Formats: sequence, structure tokens, C-alpha cells
Amino acid sequence: MAVKDAPAVAAPAPAQKSAPQRAMEKLGLVRDIDLALHLPLRYEDETRLTPMSALRDGDTVQVEAVVREALIQGGRRQLVVWLVEGRHELLLRFVHFFPSHQKSLVPGALVRARGEVRGGFLGREMVHPAFKVVQPGAPLSDALTPVYPTSAQLPQAYLRKAVAAGLRRAPLDEVLPRGVVPRGLPGLREALNFLHHPSSAASLAALEERTHPAWQRIKFEELLAQQLSQLTAQRERARLRAPSLKARPGGLHEQLLAALPFTLTAAQHRVSNEIAADLRRPQPMHRLLQGDVGSGKTVVAALAAAVAIDAGWQCALMAPTEILAEQHFRKLLQWLEPLGIGVAWLTGSRKGKARTAMVERIASGEAKLIVGTHAVIQGDVHFAKLGLAVIDEQHRFGVAQRLELRHKLAEQKLEPHLLMMSATPIPRTLAMTYFADLDVSTIDELPPGRTPIVTRVFADNRRDDVIARVRDEVNKGRQVYWVVPLIEESEALDLQNATETHAQLSAIFDGVAVGLLHGRMSSADKAAVMAEFTAGRMSVLVATTVIEVGVDVPNASVMVIEHAERFGLAQLHQLRGRVGRGAVASVCVLIYTSPLSQTGRERLKAMAETTDGFEIARRDLEIRGPGEFMGAKQSGDALLKFADLAQDEVLLERAKAAAPGLLDAHPDAARAHISRWLGGKMEFLKA
Ligand code: ADP
Ligand code: MG
Repeated sequence: MAVKDAPAVAAPAPAQKSAPQRAMEKLGLVRDIDLALHLPLRYEDETRLTPMSALRDGDTVQVEAVVREALIQGGRRQLVVWLVEGRHELLLRFVHFFPSHQKSLVPGALVRARGEVRGGFLGREMVHPAFKVVQPGAPLSDALTPVYPTSAQLPQAYLRKAVAAGLRRAPLDEVLPRGVVPRGLPGLREALNFLHHPSSAASLAALEERTHPAWQRIKFEELLAQQLSQLTAQRERARLRAPSLKARPGGLHEQLLAALPFTLTAAQHRVSNEIAADLRRPQPMHRLLQGDVGSGKTVVAALAAAVAIDAGWQCALMAPTEILAEQHFRKLLQWLEPLGIGVAWLTGSRKGKARTAMVERIASGEAKLIVGTHAVIQGDVHFAKLGLAVIDEQHRFGVAQRLELRHKLAEQKLEPHLLMMSATPIPRTLAMTYFADLDVSTIDELPPGRTPIVTRVFADNRRDDVIARVRDEVNKGRQVYWVVPLIEESEALDLQNATETHAQLSAIFDGVAVGLLHGRMSSADKAAVMAEFTAGRMSVLVATTVIEVGVDVPNASVMVIEHAERFGLAQLHQLRGRVGRGAVASVCVLIYTSPLSQTGRERLKAMAETTDGFEIARRDLEIRGPGEFMGAKQSGDALLKFADLAQDEVLLERAKAAAPGLLDAHPDAARAHISRWLGGKMEFLKA
């Protein structure tokens, strides 16, 4: 910052930060308030002593007794210490120990030790108990001892002291006006003091299940901060300017509608109107179009593109994989080219002169509709007049790519409208929290004439039966996807698997064209294989998950997934969505290998029980939790620390209802509240 203006008499050099201090910063524990809001995971009860006569195996207790003997034993040099109380004895065992242990645990010393009691070879013992040497009659703690979430570089004892100090110093005055906090909940200071140091009489269950009113208060605060910050972002966005794009009577939009080989479903009509209304406004659209696989999102995007292009602006459409981008490209070409709209194509594998030429056409504004992977928004690509950006399968784009896009959109004075599409519907509670800043349109209807997909689950010892079924289908002229297991540790093994299965099935299905598609193939080879399959010249396609998203071959009616237990639920649903796209009855066969894990079983059960994408998403959230659902593990996103969306829906509703009024009537209080809860995290993110 203003280094040049540093005073001649230098301020004392900042002291070198210790390892625990750096570890605290990593956890976002920067300000006193951050420490005060760093709440215990659980508690230890050091408020009472258990008499040795009352010890039971498996209990975690605190005892106080005199050392009878301490020895170093065995080849592996353990420190063993006998405590006695009357005729009862307890052994403390230390596999790792320091000279200081030996010095303090000497015969005659009075020791307080805390740990789990186990039956050992030499009688009852505690392994690696927490302990201290005390004077007779030393007072016991009168509050439960907090155990905080921490990291390897940050000792619990250090953190406990830091939190206690932070809690004392942090300004904890109430910033929320009366009536905002639900009735019956304690004040903030009171709630925090209690949660950091609950009295020994407190219900451990209510504390650990986080149902206690003090917890409710904290969760409400957190949810409110999150709602306020989302709402602020939303209002800031409303101040941005975007081109107002109107569909002309008789314009491209109408022409495209008339030229389509089908009529839109009622749901497609409705969402199309919602999007058109957004495009007319001079503020950037920020809309998610969700609809189950096969519900027909692409054509809705094409209609929006037609409006933008007709108004003299460019449109970019991005997909997460080359295969999918290519498919979009073909479909859009087929729909739009006859109307005189040029469709351009840009992916990472397009290099050299072809790329340079394309980048120039985009910069000059000559290219109107640009389809591709995220290469479309990479550094050297600049649009002359980008009016609309469409992102297909938006949740599959990484965080870095989303940021890149945000920067790209902000390059222009008038920001482009943004349409995101996803086949993985966001469950309601998530939509209310992390995606509150997003308008949502939902296609809740499939195009007519589709027959539902039947899903069957088989153990892998019935693979031969599956092969026989597949042969029948092939003989009937049907096409089959055969997806091979996902081997997470190794791409090489993935490949081997795919090639072996391909060889095996080629031998079994004598005289039938069996193709192979995997991630290591060149784009040209992939495209060639897909073209064969699409044209119906290939009956069986052995593939890795490269076909997971968007592939659209209506005549394919069988989807076989081997080692289905290794796939995530959303992924299985996506794969299944590759069939059932035409009028023939379709089957999805899930082959699993025993033993199934609990979650593996739940996933396969969900797949067999429903084909409804919303229900699948709900169960996925239940099985995996919101962090994984959003892929936020890597993102450092402002995820909720305390509130649990499954458990705290009522509090969430309250917070959501309170946010707008608070922001309007008490903007200072709202700002103070956001900063209290999210300020430390922001600084930490900037660093
Ligand atoms: P998704 O929502 O999964 O992206 P697509 O846009 O790929 O679905 O559409 C799936 C298939 O349905 C495509 O072949 C598309 O042309 C076709 N389709 C879309 N809308 C309709 C409709 N209203 N009637 C008939 N077929 C449609
Ligand atoms: Mg799609």
C-alpha cells in the first residue's frame, strides 16, 4: 500500500508470526470477533471427578489419584504410571512421552487425568490421558471444557486461550433492532458466553445436537448475515446496466419458432417468456434455467440467442466438454443457419491460424453466435458486443472458470445477460441460501411421446444375463451405451478398463459394430465415433463418463453402467438421461459389485425408485450434504458453518423474511451485522 509515505521514524517491524498464529489466520481467525464466533465442536466434562471404584470400561472420565509407581517398559519404551485410590488402581499408558512427563509423574504426586477407561492386560487403563499434577483440594472447572475445530499446527490449548481472550475483547453489543431476532432466544453475548463455557448443568445433548436456544440464536445470526449479503449483491447487480433486448415481431425469434420441427411444450413456453422479459430489461439477467435431462433446454437457449442476435448483439454459449459443445454447435447450426445466422465454434483444441481467425471474427463482431467450451471466455478472446452468455451445465464449471467468466462479463460498459442451465435442480433450501441471488426458471415437463425409463439393478455375477438382454435389443435394431467403471485413482486404469471391455464385447457381439469412446482420444477421433453412433452405424458404444452430459441420440434405448456403485447419484442420473430420448421404451441397467457401502446402496435404491430429477437431487443432498453438493470444498465459498439446512429450515425462513426490511430500514445495522459475520472471511480471501 502506501509504502512510499512511510514516516522517517519507522514503526516497529511487525513481529514474526508464530506457527499457531499463521494457522489461526488460515482458519480465518483474524479479528477478536472471528475468535468469539469460533464455536466448539464438542465439550469435555472436567467439572467432576469419578471415584476409581465407579470406573467402567468405555467411559470417558476424570479421576484424581496418587502415583504409586512410574516405569519405562518394554522394547517400545512406554511410560506406564500406576495410580492408586484405596484398593483400586488405574494404569496410565504413554506410548509417546517427553522427559517432562517422567519428571512430573513421580511416586507421591497427585494427578488429575482424563481419558477413556479400557480393560487392559494389566487391569484398567487410560492410554494417553490428558493430565496435570495438582495440589490437594485444587478447584474443579465449573464449566464444560470446549473443544474447538482446529488444524494440526494449532494446539487446542493455544486456541482455547486465544478464543477466551477474543471473546472477552470482542464488541458483542446487539446490532440487530428489536423484533428481528425470533422471540425467546438469548442475546448474542449471552449465547456466546454460554456456548464457549456452558455450566456443568447444561444438557450435553442439546448442546451437541445444536438445538439449545443459544445455538438457535447463533444459527439465526449466521443465516441472516448470509441472506443480507446475498440481498446486497442482488441490489448491487440491479444497478448494473445491460442492453435491453426485445424480440421484434416477425424477427429471428418468431422465424426460429416457426422453423422448429416440433412445437414447444407449455413449460418451454413459460420459461421462454420469463427469459424474454428479463432480456427486455436494461439490467443484466442472472437466471438459472433448470430442467431434467431431456426436457429441452437447448431450444430455449437458442430462442434467447435469436432475440439477442436480432437486436444486433453477440451471444456466447458454453458447455463443459468438447463433445457437448460440438453437439450444441451442430444442433444450433441446423436450426439457425437456414435463418442466416452464422454459428462459430471455439474450443481449447482449436489452435493456430483457425483460432486466430476466429478470435478476430469475435472481436470484430462478425461472429454472432459463438459456441464452445470455456475457451470462449479465455484471456485473449474479446467480444465486440456480447449481449447474452449462456452456460450449459453450469455446475460442472470450476470455480476458476466461473470467476473468469465474471471478469469477462464485466469487461463491457453494458454487461451481458447471463443464462445458466442445469439438469441438476437445486433443492429448495439451497436455492434460498447460496443461490438467493439467482432467478430460477424451471421446465417441469418432458416433451411428449417419451416413454419412461425402467431401471434395473443387477449384481455383477449376473453380467451374462445382462449381455443376453443387450443382444436381444441390438437384434431389434436398438442402440446401447455401455459405460465402464470409473477408477478414480488412475486414468490409465480407466482406459485399460474401457479397452478391455470393448475387446470383450466386440468378441461377444460378433458381427455387430461396437465402438469405443474415452477421454484420452483426440477430439477428431471422438467426433468420428460419435458421428458413427449418431448415424446408427454403430450399435454398441463402450464409453467412459465422457458421454455423461448432454449426448443426444434418440435411437439409443439401453444404458448399461458397470460398477454403478462407484458413481455419484447426480452422475448416474445424467448417464441414465442419455436414453429415453425417443419413443422406444428404454432401460437403464446398473451393475454393481458387492459389498455395497451404505451410501452406495442408498444411491442405487434411489435410482431404482425414481426417475424424477428433483427427487434425485433431494436425496443426493441428503446423502452427501450441501458442501459436496455444491462442489464448494475447493472454492472457499462462504458456506454456513453452524446452520444445517436440513435441520434449520424454520430459522432460514425467518432470516429470509427479515433481511429486506432490515436492509431498508436499518442499513447501518445490516452492514454491521454482515461485517461481524463475514468480514474476517473476506479479508482472509483477499490475502
Ligand atoms: P436437455 O434439457 O437435456 O438439454 P435437449 O435440449 O438436449 O435436452 O433436448 C432433448 C431432445 O428433445 C432434443 O433432441 C431436442 O431436439 C428435443 N426436444 C426439445 N424440445 C422438444 C419439444 N418441445 N418437442 C419434441 N422434442 C423436443
Ligand atoms: Mg442439455
